[in-house]
Amino acid sequence: MSEAYECTTSTMGTVVSVRVVGGDPLRREERTQRALRWFARVEAVCSRFEPDSELCQLCERVGQPVKVSALLFEVLKFAVAVAEASGGAFDPTLGALSAARGFDRHWRTGVSIRPQRRPSDSSRRRRVRQAGWRALTLDEEHQTVMLRTPMQLDLGAVAKGMAVDLAARDLADVRDFAIDAGGDVYVSGSNHTGQPWSVGIRNPQATHTLCATLRVRDRAVCTSGDYARTSTDGVSTHLIDPATGGAATSAISATVVAPTAMVADALATAVYIMGPVRGLALLEHHGADGLIIATDSTHVMTSGMAKWIEHPVTNVA
Ligand code: AMP
Ligand code: MG
Repeated sequence: MSEAYECTTSTMGTVVSVRVVGGDPLRREERTQRALRWFARVEAVCSRFEPDSELCQLCERVGQPVKVSALLFEVLKFAVAVAEASGGAFDPTLGALSAARGFDRHWRTGVSIRPQRRPSDSSRRRRVRQAGWRALTLDEEHQTVMLRTPMQLDLGAVAKGMAVDLAARDLADVRDFAIDAGGDVYVSGSNHTGQPWSVGIRNPQATHTLCATLRVRDRAVCTSGDYARTSTDGVSTHLIDPATGGAATSAISATVVAPTAMVADALATAVYIMGPVRGLALLEHHGADGLIIATDSTHVMTSGMAKWIEHPVTNVA
């Protein structure tokens, strides 16, 4: 049994904790704090709620190639790849639609990002809402991004995963640690008892209980669920099906196990939108594992998922 050190903070609209097992106590604390700082850094680049973020600044410059930071380029490139792989179910350009559905307030300040309505804005607003990921042009060689039409980019489905990966990379020489960013988890090595880490999956219909427990090491486990967030207008879902512009309706929870949190985070969102049948096919095709709980409370999982499950899926419905 080894000693563990844990530090928790509020960031990116959720509670993030880093737990480190063993090692020198002073060094452990310093390393944990350093890892946590990645969340604020990623938020400063990727937030759609902070007008000064690099993402919002990019959205102001429509129709011209804009040189962006390596971090923003990487996350946008990955988001576009997932959009393509998911047949557009995952779409990082739905920010305006999301704001219109009531997800429009900064988690810390409570300030609304909803623009003042002016009649002359209506056609622009319509275009912004209908943009779609195909209206993004990324130039790898010059590290530029061009928005060919007005749009509000939204990296809410993938940025937290990226922050988890950056924090994990920072802790690479520590070996035994766990990062939990409210539904996005990365675990490395062993827990304080020398066993693989235990990661619970919340029961989407009774969120104070678990519907399964996984045993994992050196993997990310990310879950997307309808229950995770509520808009300022009380709309219950924050996950949008781009095909309808409304709430995604075939799944109530999607969990993905993958080597990195950015992949698990993005795929969990994509699979949630796609639902059990298409979602499962996407995971199998990309060699990721996952569990999808459908609206009717039945569940499906990839062929490789069983090896991670310690306590089987129960209690749903
Ligand atoms: P997650 O909790 O990782 O599933 O991410 C949820 C967030 O993803 C939402 O709050 C939105 O910011 C964003 N989002 C909603 N619908 C989609 C979609 N179809 N594709 C990509 N991102 C989305
Ligand atoms: Mg996600």
